[in-house]
Amino acid sequence: MIEVEKLNVVFGEGEDRVHAVRDVSFRVPEGTTFGLVGESGSGKSTVLRAMSGLNPTWTGRISVAGRTLGPKRDKAFYKTVQMVFQDPYGSLHPRHTVDRILMEPLSIHRLDDPETRIDRVLREVGLGPDFRFRYPHQLSGGQRQRVAVARALILEPKILLLDEPTSALDVSVQAEVLNLLQRLKKLHGLTYILVSHDLSVVGHMCDDLAVMNRGAVVEELSVERLRSHAPEHPYTRQLMVASLGYDRAAVDKFEDFGPGN
Ligand code: ADP
Ligand code: MG
Repeated sequence: MIEVEKLNVVFGEGEDRVHAVRDVSFRVPEGTTFGLVGESGSGKSTVLRAMSGLNPTWTGRISVAGRTLGPKRDKAFYKTVQMVFQDPYGSLHPRHTVDRILMEPLSIHRLDDPETRIDRVLREVGLGPDFRFRYPHQLSGGQRQRVAVARALILEPKILLLDEPTSALDVSVQAEVLNLLQRLKKLHGLTYILVSHDLSVVGHMCDDLAVMNRGAVVEELSVERLRSHAPEHPYTRQLMVASLGYDRAAVDKFEDFGPGN
């Protein structure tokens, strides 16, 4: 469903030059969830932004559902691929009601029967019709993220790019939203890329994952290998220790395995 080959993204020039993504390649079969993990700043969001068309200055090859993508995306692309961001408050317009937030993509794409679509998608994300005319500030963090997921789903895409979708939420709410994402994936036969800095989230959600450090993939592994605590690269083992209860002493001993800037 998704193929990324030798993706590179460079920001800035001279002293400000940052090689944010280095030769990243992976494939995601239809109906599976692929995890991208790594510390903050390792290039995970930059990979998703290049894929979703938010950043046109990448090189390499990206193909989605058999189509190779150029730097610009057409309208049809967004009927196939949608993105969900970490911060639902920042990504929802504060002065628009849930109804208007969900109506917008429907009118851009001129889809029929918007009322039915909005009712259905709200029900699917576990929010009843009562939520339709609320504003984002009248919702809890978890409810806001459910609205962001509803907005991503309303065009009935095949792929969701999820950038730390639960990192801003309390732990109990995190689990609810992750379970919702699992249910929706089964219901619609979706393919996911899930970005997270948390290996336990990825271990719960993904089939395969790539571990990123300083813009490069240091290891790709199946979730079984992760669960049996058998990752090969020392950087992955470090991340694992850090995810198992945020062992501060372990984090302080972190070594840098990156290629350097
Ligand atoms: P992650 O999502 O893994 O935390 P990012 O992909 O956001 O990491 O960032 C990777 C690197 O690219 C970081 O060094 C970040 O500062 C840099 N970066 C990201 N976006 C930009 C940008 N628009 N301009 C300049 N540098 C950027
Ligand atoms: Mg990020």
